[in-house]
Amino acid sequence: MPQYNPPLRDMQFVMHEVLKVTDEFRALPKHADVDADTINAVLEEAGKFAVEVTFPLNISGDTEGCKLDQATHEVTPPKGFKEAYAKYVEGGWAALSCDPEYGGQGLPFVVNQCVYEMLNSANQAWTMYPGLSHGAYEALHAHGTDAQKKLYLPKLVSGEWTGTMCLTEPHCGTDLGLLRTKAEPQADGTYKLTGNKIFISAGEHDMTENILHLVLARLPDAPQGSKGISLFLVPKFNVAEDGAIGSRNGIYCGSLEHKMGIHGNATAQIVLEGAVGTMVGAPNKGLAAMFVMMNAARLGVGNQSLGLTEVAYQNALAYAKDRIQMRSLSGVKAKDKPADPIIVHPDVRKMLLTAKAYAEGGRALAIYCTMLLDKELHHPDEKVRKDSGEIVALLTPIVKAFLTDNGHISTNACMQVFGGHGFIKEWGMEQFVRDNRINMIYEGTNTIQSLDLLGRKVLGNNGATLKKFGKIIGALIAEEGVNEKMAEFINPLAYLADQMTKFTTELGFKGFQNPDEVGAAAVDYLRVAGHLVFGYFWARMAQTALREIAAGNADPFYLAKVQTARFYFAKLFPETATLMRTARSGSKALMDTDAALA
Ligand SMILES: Cc1cc2nc3c(=O)[nH]c(=O)nc-3n(C[C@H](O)[C@H](O)[C@H](O)COP(=O)(O)OP(=O)(O)OC[C@H]3O[C@@H](n4cnc5c(N)ncnc54)[C@H](O)[C@@H]3O)c2cc1C
Repeated sequence: MPQYNPPLRDMQFVMHEVLKVTDEFRALPKHADVDADTINAVLEEAGKFAVEVTFPLNISGDTEGCKLDQATHEVTPPKGFKEAYAKYVEGGWAALSCDPEYGGQGLPFVVNQCVYEMLNSANQAWTMYPGLSHGAYEALHAHGTDAQKKLYLPKLVSGEWTGTMCLTEPHCGTDLGLLRTKAEPQADGTYKLTGNKIFISAGEHDMTENILHLVLARLPDAPQGSKGISLFLVPKFNVAEDGAIGSRNGIYCGSLEHKMGIHGNATAQIVLEGAVGTMVGAPNKGLAAMFVMMNAARLGVGNQSLGLTEVAYQNALAYAKDRIQMRSLSGVKAKDKPADPIIVHPDVRKMLLTAKAYAEGGRALAIYCTMLLDKELHHPDEKVRKDSGEIVALLTPIVKAFLTDNGHISTNACMQVFGGHGFIKEWGMEQFVRDNRINMIYEGTNTIQSLDLLGRKVLGNNGATLKKFGKIIGALIAEEGVNEKMAEFINPLAYLADQMTKFTTELGFKGFQNPDEVGAAAVDYLRVAGHLVFGYFWARMAQTALREIAAGNADPFYLAKVQTARFYFAKLFPETATLMRTARSGSKALMDTDAALA
């Protein structure tokens, strides 16, 4: 059976020692009083919840899956999920970083980020039920009418009701402009929705008394394509003006998908048969409103893989210390045993350190992004709000795609550490691999994230936001450029930062002449950009650790941090050279291949 220990020390290191989040919060009137002790205490309790309540349901939930009653259309999630959710609501976890006006606790997003990392490590499938509700809360909070907010937000904030996002249809996934679900205006100002949605996560369950579906659909006179999409709130049970639950609405689960992983989460085909809904935001502007939810969800999906990377690493590390096979190439290490523990073998260490470096780098990036979200929403200076928002927008596709790709690499590496036992279900390692796989696909595939990054966020504004982030990196390089102890981290970072400008300009120029060049280079480009960002955070983490060591701090945590940074720059970061080379090789070898693909 796998184990999980919440990485509280590492979270505290990133929050309080590297990023100094509470200093940043002091400038935000809303969070000025939030101190490190409060954050640490909340995270400690959240860690206990993850370990004691949801982690024990991870393997059983995977084995059991969800069940649909075809007659009633009701879905029963795996045993224990409903009770765990009740404890989550009772503990006030849903309200953590929500607006106090609607019953929230108003804590910074940074806290929620760390809570959700632990919940994802413990049980991704379970965590998706409350996770999607949070995205629905954000979309409604940003675009709902006062009446909608008053009626629905307190229920999402308390967790009494959950939310979903209903975009995908059988013929329409990436290209939402193709969607067909119809919304007919009614005399009373509501709409009747008819259509079929597929793949809807947490789309039906009995864990709460109501479910709020956020549904994309078309008005009768809507323009073709993505300019004709509106957003609607469609509750499972109709809700009276006083909040009382009324009749069953015409939206139900037609079937459940049979899938590779996250078996404990109900992935529903949703049928809308004249379901009553109200519009969220303006007519035909539904995608913009839904983007609030999608952006939150993209960061959330990166966080899912961060959680899986961490838990897979912890288990692989414990196994590698315990399992004995063969002798070390450089001489016997465990003389009292018939063989050495496999952790002595260089490649086993490489697999472990890969997962460790990706987990800790990912944690730093994810916490940084949520700190910027806090600043974007609450900083009194408009310029800081704007700059923070732009950098989060730039980093969002990197969090989504780089962290989930790294999750794939890491969970596979950790499974490999177990040899054949990793392939056997009872160890839990193959489940981490399977559960992670969807993270690279949903919320816009990682290819789509790479096009968003290179096409929209970088070339779309002539590299302006990239330059802003480049200045942040430049400040670190200027600060540490003459520090010999930092040279092994700063030199490769400075080299890549310099290369990145030329590389981006070159791709922009080629893309201007032939847009397929952007499509051919984007996935490689995102990985290079991911390493640039990770390189920056690993250098900052090494900087903090080296300063502690220089000040005489003998806590082995700091030496471990420096050694992991060293591994990252020596063994993972250099793949950027290959990636730039393959990106530069252009689109011809892909697009002149009709004979090969015939
Ligand atoms: C378990 C699960 C849960 C999900 N949960 C939800 C949910 O809660 N709500 C919801 O609405 N949807 C959900 N989805 C749907 C998910 O978001 C889509 O599957 C995803 O967006 C891709 O759409 P698609 O499957 O139709 O693939 P397609 O859009 O058909 O894409 C197929 C392939 O073509 C590539 N491709 C497409 N267009 C381009 C392009 N322009 N350039 C380059 N490559 C391209 C894609 O990257 C992909 O590799 C879920 C899916 C699954 C499997």
